[in-house]
Amino acid sequence: MAAFKRILLKLSGESLMGEKQYGIDEKRLSEYASQIAEIAALGVQVGIVIGGGNIFRGLTGTSKGFDRVQGDQMGMLATVINSLALNSALQAAGVKSRVLTAIRMEPIGEFYSKQKAISSLEQGEVVILSAGTGNPFFTTDTGSSLRAIEIEADVMLKGTRVDGIYTADPEKDKTATKFDEITYDEIYNRNLKVMDLTATTMCKENNMPIYVFDMDTVGNLKKVITGEKIGTLVRN
Ligand code: UDP
Repeated sequence: MAAFKRILLKLSGESLMGEKQYGIDEKRLSEYASQIAEIAALGVQVGIVIGGGNIFRGLTGTSKGFDRVQGDQMGMLATVINSLALNSALQAAGVKSRVLTAIRMEPIGEFYSKQKAISSLEQGEVVILSAGTGNPFFTTDTGSSLRAIEIEADVMLKGTRVDGIYTADPEKDKTATKFDEITYDEIYNRNLKVMDLTATTMCKENNMPIYVFDMDTVGNLKKVITGEKIGTLVRN
């Protein structure tokens, strides 16, 4: 039995690199697709937002002399590239899926609307919500908070390479301990880098729970969906 009826899954672009330094690792991509296929088969309605950091980030561009707005537009296009790759991998895994875009670019994907997204989800399609919010100065974390709230997801699942939220960065501080549950306010007070503040605040103000877990270990997504407590839950 699934613990959630409708989820918004946020995948980072960076994780798509796998062992590579840039771009898309086919093995990681197909692992993601098969994990998603597994939960779609349980009847869970799945919306996905994927980042673009494996290809381009606006802020990194600014440090190299790019105009911020155009850099962010490049970043949003990077999320569309990743979304198409994931869509194709999902379809190869036998999953019905489609890409919606926050910026008009038919025929690459249909222009996003809440109605279109929900009607696809209700028909059992996995929906990939690409191009972030469609606006510069935002991130895909904020895009996924926004879409999770819009599509009335039960939870926003943030798939990362760490198995939850820790008191400090566990890759740097060996004494760091993991939270099973934490409030949004505690995240602010402890200055924890879970998501950017805009994304966290949107979830807090709209009572959207966030579940942070390690998506890079195959099988974990199904564990989360079936109610195993392997990550950290954030709520008010
Ligand atoms: N971006 C944007 N608006 C959005 C979402 C993303 O301008 O609503 C741009 C921004 O430049 C960002 C890039 O797209 O750096 C890639 O997204 P993100 O950094 O969130 O990807 P991730 O870190 O998840 O790989």
